[in-house]
Parts: sequence; structure tokens; C-alpha cells
Amino acid sequence: MIDTHIHADSRTSEDFEKMFISGIDTAITCSYYPYKINNNPEILLNHLNRILNFDPKRAKEYGLDLKVALGIHPTNSLKNNEIIFEQLEKWIENKEIVAIGEIGLDENSDLEKKVFKKQLELAENTKSKVIIHTPRKNKLKVLSEIKEIVLENINPKLVVIDHINLNTVEELIDEEFTIGLTVQPQKMEVEEAIEILDKYGFDKFLLNSDISNKPSDPLSVPRTIRTLKRLGYDEKEINKLAFKNAKKFFKI
Ligand SMILES: [Zn+2]
Repeated sequence: MIDTHIHADSRTSEDFEKMFISGIDTAITCSYYPYKINNNPEILLNHLNRILNFDPKRAKEYGLDLKVALGIHPTNSLKNNEIIFEQLEKWIENKEIVAIGEIGLDENSDLEKKVFKKQLELAENTKSKVIIHTPRKNKLKVLSEIKEIVLENINPKLVVIDHINLNTVEELIDEEFTIGLTVQPQKMEVEEAIEILDKYGFDKFLLNSDISNKPSDPLSVPRTIRTLKRLGYDEKEINKLAFKNAKKFFKI
């Protein structure tokens, strides 16, 4: 199984062990710095370097293959971002990251939009995959802005839009985006994810736990996959969600 969106830097080694033992072979860790940055790019750069240089080794000790996505999370948007972009270009060139992420809009401020667009341009120019965050609050309204910006700036085939639920899936289903389902306490239960899959099929979706410093379930991917199995869903369809769609999309 592949958990397509986690925040390994805020989780313990015990989580990695549980995930691996429960059948997760690979996870993709995304950047999100949960503290104040004060427009200081050095703080963010430290955070990104820590993810890249430290967490994959930590996870590997427990068997978990941790891939890395780096970028400027919308809540970490900063004006002074040149050194971050310089580094992002190098990481992409050296194939050290599998995607730019997570990026997107949260409070929908002008600065967030500016930084978001700049990262989409970089992704389009380098043909990088992007993992896009959608907020907990005002999800549908912000999502329609995100969709508009994405369609103007990048090939939608490079994009996964994440944390989509029953209320927002209609907005994306007819587009060429890949759609991320996040099963996490306070975000979405297993049953809601299954309702979406029942309605729209398994082809367009990736699955993740988004484990972070917020309430999280490191086993939400195996919980969802095994529930589908218990309920008698077709093995081929389950495998798409468990790993095949993610392998194809991220080329991992
Ligand atoms: Zn996240």
C-alpha cells in the first residue's frame, strides 16, 4: 500500500513501524511547518532540508520507503522566497523529490495566491507533479479558486487535488486532475470515502492519512483498504486505490 500524503517530520518512529507492519510499503511526506516563519526563509529552508535529509532515513529503519514532496505550504507563504525557489529547482533537477507539495490556498490571501501561482509555474516548466492542499474552512469556495488558478497555470494531468470529500468531489470529477481522499479524524471517515468510490469509481483517486501534528490515524490507509476487502469489493479496483494509481501518477 502507498499512503500518498503524510507529514513524517511531526510523527514518531512508532508510527512508521505500525504503518509498515500494517502493509504500507511507501509513503509520501509533504512539507508543512506548523510554527511561525516571520517571513524568514531560513526557517523554512531548515524545515525542508530536515524532511529531505532526516525523515527518509528514520522511516527506512522501520522498513517504510519514504518519498519526499517539498514546497511552500499556503500557511507558510512568505514574500522573501527566492532562496526557497532556487533550492526547489535544484531538488527537482537532481530528482530528489517526487512532487512539489503541498501547496495551494488556505486563507486565500493575495500572498498565498502569488506564491501558489509561482510554484505552479515552476511545476509546469519542469513537468513536476504537484500535491495541492484544500482548506478545512470554506472548502468549496476556496476550491473553485484553486481550480481556476490551476487550469490557467498548469497541465491538470500533473496535479493531485487533495482532501476532497463528498461535498466537493463534484467540482473536480469531470476535470483531468487526480483526486486525493484523506481519511483522517475530523476530516473524513472510511464510510464517506467508500461512498465517493461507489459513486465515481476507483480510477481517479489516491488515498492518504495526512498524519500530522493534528489528530491523525497512521493506519487510515490500511483501514480503508481492508474495509473495502471485507465488504467484498473487486480486488483489481482495490489495488488501484491501494497503490496502482499512486505508482502511475508519481512514477514511483
Ligand atoms: Zn498535509
